[in-house]
Amino acid sequence: MGAFVNNHEKGIYKCAICGTELFSSDTKFDSGTGWPSFTDPANLEHVVLKEDPSLGMSRTEVLCKTCGAHLGHVFDDGPAEKGGKRYCINSVCLEFEKK
Ligand SMILES: [Zn+2]
Repeated sequence: MGAFVNNHEKGIYKCAICGTELFSSDTKFDSGTGWPSFTDPANLEHVVLKEDPSLGMSRTEVLCKTCGAHLGHVFDDGPAEKGGKRYCINSVCLEFEKK
């Protein structure tokens, strides 16, 4: 949940722990879930996607590649015209740098 859900400023969302650039405001969209949501990572090289079978659901966990921090999950119900992915990320894992 949190702080960045209604942040519509232009900038880069970085890992709160190590500062790796993770998401750009350009890919942020309002998913109506109460979580900051993105269609794509700023750089796929900066994240790790890992199968997470917990809770009896097949979900894909998103981790910071640099420090291994858990960021959130990625789902396949994002905007179709932008690739159909929804990266659902916890605000506390992110730091925003205004551009
Ligand atoms: Zn990190």
